[in-house]
Amino acid sequence: MRSQSKLVFGFGGGEAEGAADMTALLGGKGANLAEMSRLGLEVPPGFTITTEVCTRFNANDGAVPEQLADQVAAALKVVERQAGAVFGDAGNPLLLSVRSGSRASMPGMMDTVLNLGLNDATVEGLARRSGDARFAYDCYRRFVQMYGDVVLGLDHHGFEEIIARRKEARALRLDTELDADDWREIVALYKRRVDSELGVPFPQDAEVQLRDAVAAVFRSWVNQRAVTYRRLNLIPDDWGTAVTVQAMVFGNMGEDCATGVAFSRNPSTGARALFGEFLANAQGEDVVAGLRTPQPLDRGGGAAGLSLEERLPGVYTRLTETMAWLEAHYRDMQDVEFTVQNGRLYFLQTRTGKRTAAAALKIAVEMVEEGLIDRREALRRIEPESLERLLHPTLDPAAERNVLARGLAASPGAACGRLVLNADDAEARARDGEDVILARIETSPEDIHGMHAARGILTARGGMTSHAAVVARGMGRPCVSGAGDLVIDYAAGTASAGGVTLSTGDVVTIDGGTGEIMQGRVPTVQPELAETFWRLMAWTDTVRALRVRTNAETPAEARLAREFGAEGIGLCRTEHMFFGDDRILAFRRMIMSETEEERRAALAEILPMQRRDFVALFEIMAGLPVTVRLLDPPLHEFLPRDAGALAEIAREIGKPPAEVERRAERIQEVNPMLGHRGCRLGLSHPEIYEMQAQAIFEAAVAGGAPVALEIMIPLAATRRELELLAARIGTVADRVAADTGKRPCYLIGTMIELPRACLRADELAEVAEFFSFGTNDLTQTAYGISRDDSGLFLDRYLDLGILARDPFVTLDPDGVGELMSIAAERGRRVRSGLKLGICGEHGGDPASVRFCHAIGIDYVSCSPYRVPVARLAAAQAALETEGGSTMSQRGPSGS
Ligand code: PEP
Ligand code: MG
Repeated sequence: MRSQSKLVFGFGGGEAEGAADMTALLGGKGANLAEMSRLGLEVPPGFTITTEVCTRFNANDGAVPEQLADQVAAALKVVERQAGAVFGDAGNPLLLSVRSGSRASMPGMMDTVLNLGLNDATVEGLARRSGDARFAYDCYRRFVQMYGDVVLGLDHHGFEEIIARRKEARALRLDTELDADDWREIVALYKRRVDSELGVPFPQDAEVQLRDAVAAVFRSWVNQRAVTYRRLNLIPDDWGTAVTVQAMVFGNMGEDCATGVAFSRNPSTGARALFGEFLANAQGEDVVAGLRTPQPLDRGGGAAGLSLEERLPGVYTRLTETMAWLEAHYRDMQDVEFTVQNGRLYFLQTRTGKRTAAAALKIAVEMVEEGLIDRREALRRIEPESLERLLHPTLDPAAERNVLARGLAASPGAACGRLVLNADDAEARARDGEDVILARIETSPEDIHGMHAARGILTARGGMTSHAAVVARGMGRPCVSGAGDLVIDYAAGTASAGGVTLSTGDVVTIDGGTGEIMQGRVPTVQPELAETFWRLMAWTDTVRALRVRTNAETPAEARLAREFGAEGIGLCRTEHMFFGDDRILAFRRMIMSETEEERRAALAEILPMQRRDFVALFEIMAGLPVTVRLLDPPLHEFLPRDAGALAEIAREIGKPPAEVERRAERIQEVNPMLGHRGCRLGLSHPEIYEMQAQAIFEAAVAGGAPVALEIMIPLAATRRELELLAARIGTVADRVAADTGKRPCYLIGTMIELPRACLRADELAEVAEFFSFGTNDLTQTAYGISRDDSGLFLDRYLDLGILARDPFVTLDPDGVGELMSIAAERGRRVRSGLKLGICGEHGGDPASVRFCHAIGIDYVSCSPYRVPVARLAAAQAALETEGGSTMSQRGPSGS
């Protein structure tokens, strides 16, 4: 990073040294405050210390550049002038907020300190100037509590206990019932706690407070929850956070004061209407903390209290107008934080609002219609991964629901799982393969790993913008928040409502679209997709160069994939066709055969089943390409391991148990992934591939539908393997032609799954008419990491930064990717029309799709639900290389 000598950027009073495009240096918050200030919006004056200072601070053990103190002092002078108050002055004190803000939004992950500058003297000044001692001491205790937690590292529960004890002693229920003397006393007890736990008094010097709070915010960039969040969201560690220091405005100074959040469109549904909530007479953290239930902005929002529109109509109108204006300025949905101090509206933050996948889609497509953005921009704005969330099942509307309680519909989608009440438990159970619903009274950033592991999130407290709601929407997890009737008892491990008590481990279902919480499992149905989804999908097809096929074996999968726009089958794993109850027996008999004759007899039984399967697939694909891969897995995968199950098989197939056990033992391998599988199987037992080829060809010539047939040989490393197998397949084709009078048309190709195959791709391409990169195996063989065992240590590799991403999820562009590039180049050198595809799991991963586009692959193939993801990712890849190629301009072989 180039080092900047300017470390502090001021804003306020209609001016600013920064602007919206400076998020890398000023963070999102700092850059947009500067922008709003330039635009003449009411923004409390302040300044932003750059992300670069943070990076240096964390790299140099807390040291900051020498010039920082002078630059901060100078910026503070400007703020004092604009705010008309003096920092640390007992008569007219300026109070500050100190807040984090990185380039990417990381809600709640880093720290904030409000009301900074208060001490025993300035609190009296604040009381005098505001004419409200209760307010002043409430601010002071909030400050000591936040500073104590964030800067001094004292657990916040200890402070809350002090308040609870005071309320108990005074027989009061709510914080709002505490008076000035109560807060004064509480502040004294807070300070005593600091003194006794740390052995030093609470700092009274405002400058020391500021210096240490800034340092604490920098440090919060590397706290565990922020590090975890960055890893989950692929945010680079070296971005750092900026710190924005800003004059406080008070939403808690009386009944004409308020604080809230507003979205220019509904972040859950995408509907074009102001959406948000606020609390009257409250400070910002009260909204997020969920201790009081916020009220809606609009009249008719359904809540008990007065809406902002009713309570402060002038403010409401100004807010509505400004939101529309900000949205037009940024050309995207905005999410603002605002505070109303004595009837005056201030903006504390604006950012591009997080939204659900459904909302993102609706907003992008509608903004095109409104002329705010063009189609390309709409395509760029949708995260491909998010589409998959729209496709998954929702609760069956016809199913009976045993509704226990209701909360807010905070993040849509249905989830079902076992109830857990803490994040660690959620993570541990999820790791063991259980689906869990994480229920908390309220969530906090410490819960982030459990929220990620859970299928759904449920809270008893908190609004639509509470931590749980915001984070769940961002993660795409269904969430019901603020279910006030639900009583969660951590100690007892229970959640109760309506006279029913659920224990940890009981099954619950939540519907994040309605806010319902249900006992037991509720069946789900496939959701109807919004018209905007299909429109966006159609737009992808006008820009992408890559074709998108699917990996499918069953008619149901093939049909689903077609609906999602698959342009053929890129991988039909024929071994999966034998998993059905009616098939497995014949297949096991084939495996158990000791002689070729026996095996041929068993295969003859399988042949008609295979043929029927292919006829069905070809019909569904109606002339599109279908790549059939010949049998690949190690044979013993079809046999269970324990003796009881083997005896059962022996009985089923009519062989003595001892014989079956002997055979099972003989075909057992030490390292099956590198053993007797793929084309090796086809070469040692030629009758298997012959049967498969016969079934495929007979289906192709017999079926009513035409098919662009591609027969694929797995795990080849040498030309000779391909030559031998291609010749045998050719012989079968001749036989079928002779028997039926119709010559099957097909291409013969190979999977590229071994480094040797990549390096000798020119030789392979002399036989193969197409290559399909089997990147699951290619990753395994390139790294020498077992696909099946990588889970044992891969997390550690990610933690240590040895790997940036799991290479089995996202293609390793440097190693595996280079092998692919070599194979593509060498293969096409020999056969210019060589068709190239990818059918490993990476075919549906957006970053990998981008890579495939870059090296000129013709198509990607992925599971049906990922087809829309791949279509959009392919479109985005084409847009990235703009000016770019379109389907009609590119690729020698089209599909
Ligand atoms: C692959 O290896 O990438 C592949 C698609 O084949 P399979 O996963 O069936 O081994
Ligand atoms: Mg493979």
